[in-house]
Amino acid sequence: MPVAKVIVDVPTMQTNRPFEYEIPTELLAVVEPGVRVEVPFGRGKRQVQGFVLDVTETSDYSGKLKEIVRVIDLNPVLSKEMLEMSSWLADLTYSFQISCLQIMLPNLLRAKYIRSVVPVQGFENDPEVTKLLDNKTSLELNNDIDNSLIEEIQRLLESKKIEILTSVKNRAKQIKRQAIQIKVDKHHLLETEDSLKKNATSQRKLLEFLISNYEKNTFEISSLESMGISRPAIKALQKIKLIDIIEVTKLRKPTDLKNATTQKLELTNEQLNAVKQINNSINQQNAETFLIQGVTGSGKTEIYLQTIDEALKEGRTALMLVPEISLTPQMVNRVSSRFGDQVAVLHSGLSSGERYDEWTRIENGSVNVVVGARSAVFAPLKNLGLIIIDEEHEASYKQDDNPRYNAKDVTQWRSKYHHCPVVLGSATPSLESRARAQKGVYKLIELKRRFNDHDLPEVKIVDMRDSDNAAVSGDISNALKTQLDEILSRKEQAILLLNRRGYSSFLMCRECGFVLKCPNCEVSLTYHKDIQRMKCHYCGHEENVLDECPNCHSDKIGFYGTGTQNVEQQINDMFPDAKTLRMDVDTTSKKGAHAKLLKEFETQNADILIGTQMIAKGLDFPNVTLVGVINADTILSLSDYRASERTFQLITQVSGRSGRAEKKGRVIIQTYNPDHYAIKEAAKQDYDSFYKKEMYIRHQGNYTPYYFTTLLSVSHESEGQALKMAYSLKRQLVDSLSEEAIILGPSPTMIARKQNKYYYQIIVKYKHEDNFHKRLLEILSDTQAETKKGFSIAIDNEPQHID
Ligand code: ADP
Ligand code: ZN
Ligand code: ZN
Repeated sequence: MPVAKVIVDVPTMQTNRPFEYEIPTELLAVVEPGVRVEVPFGRGKRQVQGFVLDVTETSDYSGKLKEIVRVIDLNPVLSKEMLEMSSWLADLTYSFQISCLQIMLPNLLRAKYIRSVVPVQGFENDPEVTKLLDNKTSLELNNDIDNSLIEEIQRLLESKKIEILTSVKNRAKQIKRQAIQIKVDKHHLLETEDSLKKNATSQRKLLEFLISNYEKNTFEISSLESMGISRPAIKALQKIKLIDIIEVTKLRKPTDLKNATTQKLELTNEQLNAVKQINNSINQQNAETFLIQGVTGSGKTEIYLQTIDEALKEGRTALMLVPEISLTPQMVNRVSSRFGDQVAVLHSGLSSGERYDEWTRIENGSVNVVVGARSAVFAPLKNLGLIIIDEEHEASYKQDDNPRYNAKDVTQWRSKYHHCPVVLGSATPSLESRARAQKGVYKLIELKRRFNDHDLPEVKIVDMRDSDNAAVSGDISNALKTQLDEILSRKEQAILLLNRRGYSSFLMCRECGFVLKCPNCEVSLTYHKDIQRMKCHYCGHEENVLDECPNCHSDKIGFYGTGTQNVEQQINDMFPDAKTLRMDVDTTSKKGAHAKLLKEFETQNADILIGTQMIAKGLDFPNVTLVGVINADTILSLSDYRASERTFQLITQVSGRSGRAEKKGRVIIQTYNPDHYAIKEAAKQDYDSFYKKEMYIRHQGNYTPYYFTTLLSVSHESEGQALKMAYSLKRQLVDSLSEEAIILGPSPTMIARKQNKYYYQIIVKYKHEDNFHKRLLEILSDTQAETKKGFSIAIDNEPQHID
């Protein structure tokens, strides 16, 4: 009897392996690896979703196997590649294989369960049961179930006449549209046209259309109607059996798909050198990695486009990952105007329906190029010829929640699977990647010049501690004001970066120093101007704004710190005639708002764009000649060893928005740490010099990339319990690691209490520890029982943030 090996949707350590199920004869034809099935699991009438990993002829198990109840898909939703990858990924990220399988699918295909009551065997015709079920076979227990029924359900459950069945609900909603399909040959259509009555104009129009588009065969009725063809005309042709009316699945197209409109640009020498090397690797099917380190404005995008083109010419597909925030219309347009409707774009602005449709177009081979953020790394492209990761230094390629995967690791795996190169691009590569290039693990390609030899912008550091320079008004220094004056008089544009969110962010008493904090999270509450209330960014707790200090009753309680709205206000007061735009989480939360703001700025309907990190990268506006960094230091104050690297990257990236075309660019950096090397090197736009200094510091401190890092964190509602558990973990680690490994902590995380739980973390730094991985998996498995007591343990392999 054939047996299916199934990963069930029960995320625990004990169930993190395939279970065997018998395949009923009638399902033999459809059960194959990659389809989802519904299977009974555990005691009671519980049914869960599962993924078939494998089908074998026999089982090693001697007892009676349970049977698969139902098949959810008629065709596999996951390819052999994804099934294989899921077990590798689960192991790497210390997560459950089921979680890895689930993230590979669009939301609409993720399991949802329904609970319903069904008769216990033998009670199908019991009068009480049939009354409750209203003569149907089951009753769904959803939210709108009538309260009057609850008592009856409980009574019948107790008398064991009915039981509760949990089963899988399949939710994929496809939009069905009506369409017509031609049933006869072209000749027949031409004859009919000749015999039509003179006044049958709509029918004639339809026939003419069908004759001239004969090859396409199927047409949506709505699009015919928009051409002025009437329903009766369609009905008439259906009646004489020229066409059929059928239902087709309409794929929602999230972007206006265009035909390719742009041509290849003529490459500079530096670009040509890069394209040649990568194309060669595509042709040779080499699973190797290139790091393009190219200054801002050096023309990396054109290299991406021409190498994608090469992969397509070879009959293969291409995947391009970009950070969510640089999935701007600008970037998307550049790709889709080169490759037209061969491109699918996956970003967080899509509805789940749209996402599902894009996924389907990729899966069925209608598109060959995918552009998307982190999770697009799982795009079901077949026959990959090239993978690109733009802005490869971005932390957002790592997922912060389970499964804590890094899209870069996944691309390395896919590159080996498909025998294709990976291209990493950045003006400010991560230290890890650059170090790998240094060692020859990656091939380094440098672009040292901006396109057309445009100069890099001239950068000035303003010391905000110095009262001569410092703020003429709130947050704007004299130097910045002077520059703004100049560019406004020349009708040029400026971008101002503020590394923060909200209005004046927190409430502080200037008399006694009291700060209004969240009662749950030990972080200060942030003022939100739109709702005029104080809000916690971790748990969402809200409070009213205070006008008297609860501690000393002084009325000198007020806002401290700066938000984008505040800076915009200061600019408006200073330059009443200038038009400003503000771009932050608040102004871009609505769908399409982001694109609209950028469009306004691009068409020069505004002079100054003020925003948070989201304006720092990818934007290419020729008229921008000034970039101001309002507060360069905010990240430096974090207790994260990547703080200098992040500061350098942010300042370099945002400075790169200035002076990209003919006009000379300027940058003003306001800081309280003017002597910090991250700020000084960023001002010089000197990556190599920064790299040397930072590598020295990493070496001294035994940090990445000299050491591997693993972060373990433990949480519990009781601080004592969390700490106790953390110490017990540490003892186990000390026992199983060599002397060479460094174990730090346990220490409370910077925000020690989130959502009423206490967090303690342990950082392990190591070079070679053969048993470490295995040992961690054992620890996870051992602590499974503890999770029931309210503990949770997370293991983060190579964390991007430590806080
Ligand atoms: P990067 O991503 O490296 O910062 P971009 O790819 O945005 O730089 O290129 C900077 C500017 O130079 C863009 O406006 C782009 O259109 C232009 N550009 C780049 N390469 C060429 C080329 N070979 N011919 C003409 N224009 C180019
Ligand atoms: Zn006070
Ligand atoms: Zn909170």
